[in-house]
Amino acid sequence: MPDISKIAVLTSGGDAPGMNPCIRAVVRTAIFNGLEVTGIKQGYKGMIEDDMQDMQRRSVSNILNLGGTILKTARCMEFHTDEGMEKAYQNLKKRGIQALVVIGGDGTFTGALRFSKKYPDIKVIGVPGTIDNDLYGSTYTLGFDTATNTVIDAIDKIRDTADAHDRLFFIEVMGRDSGAIALRAGICCGAEAILLPEKETAIEDLIKGLKGGEYDTKTSSIVIVAEGDKNGGVYDIAQKVKKEVTHYDIKVTILGHLQRGGAPSAFDRILGSRLGFAAVNALIKGESQQMVGLEANVIRLVSLEKALNQKDKFKLEDDLLEMAHVLSI
Ligand code: ATP
Repeated sequence: MPDISKIAVLTSGGDAPGMNPCIRAVVRTAIFNGLEVTGIKQGYKGMIEDDMQDMQRRSVSNILNLGGTILKTARCMEFHTDEGMEKAYQNLKKRGIQALVVIGGDGTFTGALRFSKKYPDIKVIGVPGTIDNDLYGSTYTLGFDTATNTVIDAIDKIRDTADAHDRLFFIEVMGRDSGAIALRAGICCGAEAILLPEKETAIEDLIKGLKGGEYDTKTSSIVIVAEGDKNGGVYDIAQKVKKEVTHYDIKVTILGHLQRGGAPSAFDRILGSRLGFAAVNALIKGESQQMVGLEANVIRLVSLEKALNQKDKFKLEDDLLEMAHVLSI
């Protein structure tokens, strides 16, 4: 028999498609194992404000196909403070909640780790839920696949109009610190160049290519820019190129928040289900301060500490960037 009898689940930080399948898996795995389960609204905000509700197996019916998160999410500054954490702790104690599944990104895990070090009687398991794919210990994070597919769908459409008019498009995609979406989308859409926050890409090289005719036998060109690229934002980049490269009709598109929405892909529904199932099973085994992640198609536990601090995630993907360059000639 597990030591715990009541757990809670929350989603926090940026929403990501696949959070709902994960919530469903957490609720149903808990109930299957005889545990009570509470849904906390709006992440740590709901923990502090005691905005929670007990969930039944039918509370999560028909949500596999929904984007966003039925529990809502929030960014909560009060949880950074000792007072905020104490309020949250007292609310959990009052309700008899002994363990938490937190679905979110690195900020969410930082908060969870601090909280659980302060109050070790509350066990915590993290589920990597962020479109950024920027956590150590999981090859894929929840939402990344769907967001990338959404971006690809949009860029394919832009390619049609770019092609019709011989245009050069600069397209900004999400990723303040992570170029994961930009890189994958760049490969999938045959982008002529991909600018990423993790890599210094010289605008001069791009201009040289465009001027020197590297791309001028193509009927359209697409440059994907991750929002965190260090060259100063997509409009600045386009402006710099425009000054030097006059034979293109240059356009800029920022894809923005549409990248977060939409029904989760098959991959994210399965990943969400697997991670939610694994998170509850880890709590039942007495684990805490761990993240469940997917490595080599196996679900594994990695300490939250390591998931947060060992961030050499991009090193492995230099080969993809090189390949994208070769295949774009
Ligand atoms: P995404 O990667 O999608 O942005 P995230 O989980 O990194 O998701 P954040 O906004 O960085 O999103 O963090 C979510 C919440 O986690 C914050 O609003 C805050 O409540 C909590 N949090 C973040 N850092 C800390 C911290 N150092 N101490 C306590 N709580 C924190």
